[in-house]
Amino acid sequence: MPITFNREFEPKYGEVVELSPLIRRVVAKNPNPFTFTGTGVYLLGRGEVAVIDPGPTVDEHLDAIMAALDEGETITKILVTHTHTDHTAGVAKLVARTSAVTYGFGPHGPVPDRDPLEQVTFDEYFTPEEKQKIEKEWAEIPDELKREGPDQDFLPDVIVGDGDVIMVGAHVEGVDGTAGTGTVHVVHTPGHTSNHICFGLAEEKVLFTGDHVMGWATSVISPPDGDLFDYLASLRKLLDRDDLRYWPTHGPAIDEPQAYVRDFLEHRLGRETQIVDALSAGPSTIKDLVPTMYAETDKRLWRAAANSVYSHLLALHREGRAEPVEGEPSLVATWRLL
Ligand SMILES: [Zn+2]
Repeated sequence: MPITFNREFEPKYGEVVELSPLIRRVVAKNPNPFTFTGTGVYLLGRGEVAVIDPGPTVDEHLDAIMAALDEGETITKILVTHTHTDHTAGVAKLVARTSAVTYGFGPHGPVPDRDPLEQVTFDEYFTPEEKQKIEKEWAEIPDELKREGPDQDFLPDVIVGDGDVIMVGAHVEGVDGTAGTGTVHVVHTPGHTSNHICFGLAEEKVLFTGDHVMGWATSVISPPDGDLFDYLASLRKLLDRDDLRYWPTHGPAIDEPQAYVRDFLEHRLGRETQIVDALSAGPSTIKDLVPTMYAETDKRLWRAAANSVYSHLLALHREGRAEPVEGEPSLVATWRLL
């Protein structure tokens, strides 16, 4: 069953948008195939404000976050969903400007020396015109904004775990609104990365889902730090909650979120079935599986899709249902069913 994505989202870059009494958002101008229309930065509470995922390290963008504050307000906390550069690259600069305390699950997990994905390309599927167009678009994006990579430098001041509570906001004399405080619950949701957490704002029954659940696309799972087994468990974990709305980092809000999460779970099962069906016709490689399985997906995302297929194969391998024809499990192995 296909997921009904919502790609209706037109950010006003650099402008603060008031989403609710406790929530404001500034979207960074770092759109690309991985970030959709860019990183949505949430400001929580009034008076002493908490920022969720500052986004890229672009001065204009950080200026916009500071400009989002009312007179007399300060940023005292920075909450980090996970260590990908499109979420965390701007942390150090924002701390320098505000002396805010950072909160996160912990550092990024181990990263291989070379990106294993370098071994898998789909160049031959692009026409020369497509290649030219993509290269031109790509050249216009500054290097640091090109994709979400692991941020191995970020270390939170305060390490938080599942169930921890962080208070945001404080009434400040002269600042609009008296009820500016919020109660944030930490929900550990490993899968997209091992250190991914979501933040539930109790007063509004909403969940800031980072890259765990997004409205515009599925999450990229990149082994070894990304783990499909964990990801599915983290999706099921959200079904036990009664959130009214999700605010993801990229794209629009998700209403009726539990139904959406159920669709995600079904979608992943569907992908698994596709892989099993394809392999039941004979051994195959990820490079050969992706163009068929992701025929409907932007070809620029196929390399990321290769990682998702790999994460499914690793899960099947763990269950004793698939294995490499020879050697160790890898992105370039030929896989067969057991
Ligand atoms: Zn991410």
